[in-house]
Formats: sequence, C-alpha cells, structure tokens
Amino acid sequence: MYRITLIPGDGTGPEITEATRRVLEATGVAFEWDLQDAGEDVYHQEGTPLPERVLESIKKNKVAIKGPITTPVGTGFRSVNVTLRQTLDLFSCVRPCKTYKGARTRYDNIDLVIFRENTEDLYAGIEYQKDSDGARAVISLVEKYSERTIRQDSGISIKPISVFGTERIVRAAFEYARANKRRKVTSVHKANIMKFSDGLFLEVSREVAKDYPDIEFEDKIIDNMCMQLVQKPELYDILVLPNLYGDIVSDLAAGLVGGLGIAPGANIGSECSVFEATHGSAPKYKGQNKVNPLAMILSGVMMLRHLGETEAADRLDNAAASVVREGKDVTYDMKPVPDDPTAATTSGMADAIIAHMSN
Ligand code: NAD
Repeated sequence: MYRITLIPGDGTGPEITEATRRVLEATGVAFEWDLQDAGEDVYHQEGTPLPERVLESIKKNKVAIKGPITTPVGTGFRSVNVTLRQTLDLFSCVRPCKTYKGARTRYDNIDLVIFRENTEDLYAGIEYQKDSDGARAVISLVEKYSERTIRQDSGISIKPISVFGTERIVRAAFEYARANKRRKVTSVHKANIMKFSDGLFLEVSREVAKDYPDIEFEDKIIDNMCMQLVQKPELYDILVLPNLYGDIVSDLAAGLVGGLGIAPGANIGSECSVFEATHGSAPKYKGQNKVNPLAMILSGVMMLRHLGETEAADRLDNAAASVVREGKDVTYDMKPVPDDPTAATTSGMADAIIAHMSN
C-alpha cells in the first residue's frame, strides 16, 4: 500500500485528477490517498493557495500527484507550482515526449526525455524593477566591475547558474539514462555567448559525463538544438538544459508529439517527488468533463515507475496507447476536428483506458 499525497488542483484539475485516480487504482496497485486541496478555492477559504499542510503532507509521504493550479493574478502570491518546486527543492523537472500512434503529429518516431533544471537561471526570480534601489545598485556595480554601462531605465533579471545546481541535474539525466537503458545525453546551452553561466553549465556537464563512459555525450547550442529538433528529432534521446531553455524546449517537444494533452511530467528532488502534467488548469473548460486526462494519467505512469511498479506502469501505458491508436474514445483535442460530436468526455476516456487494461 502506497500512501500518496493527491492534490486535485483547480480549474479542470479535479476532473482530470479523478480520472487519473480511477485509472491508477484499476492497475491493481494499492494506494492510500492523502487528499490535499490547494489553489484558487483554498485561497478564498484559507488565505493562501498553498497551505503549510500540503507541504507537510508531501514531506511525509515523499510522493505526490497533482492537478494543475491556476496562478492567482494580482494577489501578491507567486505561482503555487513554482513555490512547491522551490520549497521542496524539486530540482529536476523530467518531461518525456514520445509519439503515440494515432496522436495528431507531423512525426512518428520521437522518444525524447527532457531534464530541465528547476531552481536556478533567469527563472530563479531574482529581479529588480526599473528605477528601484536594487536596479540602481546593480547598474552601478556593473559599471564599477566592467567596462560596460547599462541604461538607467533598465529592469534587471539575474541569471545564476552554479556548479552544484548543474552537477545534480546532469547527474540525474545520466542516472536516468543508465537506469532506463538510453543511449545518449545532450547538454544544451549558449556557452559561446554566456561564457560564465552557460559556459559553466557546459563545463560541468562535460565533467559529469566522464563518470558515465557507457553513455554517449554531446552538447548543442540552444538555437541549433531548436532547429535540429524540428528537422531531425529522431537523432536525440535525453536532453539536459538550464531552467529557461528547458521550459521553452519542453513545450516545443510536446508540440512535436501532439501537444499539451499528451505531455506528462515529474518534479523530482532528493527527498520528494511531485508528478504533474505540463499543461495548466484550462479554466475555461472547468466542470465540463471535456479536457484530456491523458497527460496527467501518463504522469501517473511515471509515478508508478518511480515507485518500482514497472509491470503496472507498462500495462497502463499500453492501455493508454491502444485508446489513442484506436482514436475512438479520445477527447476533442485528439479528434481530427475539435467539434467532433463523437469526442469522449474526460471520464469516458478514463473508462476506455480502464477497459483496455482488463482486456
Ligand atoms: P493551459 O495549459 O491551462 O491552457 C493552454 C491551452 O491548452 C488552452 O487552450 C487549453 O484549453 C488547452 N489545454 C490545456 N490542457 C488541456 C487538456 N488537458 N486537454 C485539452 N486541452 C488542454 O495554459 P494557460 O491558459 O496559460 O494557464 C491557465 C492557468 O494554469 C494559469 O493560471 C497558469 O498559471 C496555470 N498553469 C499551471 C500549471 C501547473 O499547475 N503546473 C502549469 C501551467 C500553467
């Protein structure tokens, strides 16, 4: 019996979470769900969208699966999702992108896994507003320590990349490669221009790669990587990237395999892991039992693998693949036209996956 923190989230989150919970239980693996609400409604009731009890539950159970959570606008709270990753130090964001036959895509043989660093880089949130004391201080420091000037009317975002942060994400990528019998890790950067941040990322990537002689290593400059992914995605296997490039390339890769409805993810730290789809809360469809539960269900497949339940994970993945291949019981976004009257509901697609597991 696994005790897992279950966070339904808000918007369409509760609908896809319920579908995912039912499908996971249908694998036969025994779960005890520690239900923890977070997000918009919780903000109105408890004054914060991320109460301490949610963090405590994840720390205790070590594993969580969550629906998407809307970022409250104009309340002073940062994204719940970013706060969770930072507070629990979930430093690696793992996003597999593989083609499922039947999904609407231009490519048919993609099998990529993206390792995005989750705690540093321009995404770390260290910023100084135009005309603030902080911005003025940074501008004068830069003038003092370099020959360069920055315009006084600039806003500033800082890009820290450390040896510590890089080493652990690159090592996570190689360890995953080894455990999953993958062939190659590509480190992605812009070291030719940002020599001391991306340059360090590349240097540390090369050092870590020496510990894994059984796995091929290469590096690619980010702009070239984007072109290569569009032209010859089949040449790539595991990509490891700093936070911002990882954010952008994950969506690019999701687009290569059929869009957000099919893109699962995991945020993994040394203590805890939180599994969630790449997409957001799609609030305009809230309560309509309409959106695609597949990305969250596939995040559940990742969770099963993380728990060591490989056979159940394979069975669920195969059942989901069959439903997508047949193209009958899939939601509107996977149909040839979005207003197809034969589109399945969220719960209907989950029912079809459950039925395929028992076939
Ligand atoms: P979104 O991912 O919610 O929606 C983008 C587009 O994709 C929309 O057209 C939506 O209808 C469609 N879409 C998304 N998920 C789908 C699904 N499962 N099935 C079918 N179609 C789907 O992105 P957004 O509109 O930019 O964000 C909405 C809210 O979600 C924002 O508040 C944002 O901050 C939040 N968000 C949360 C997470 C998270 O919880 N990890 C991630 C991204 C965005």
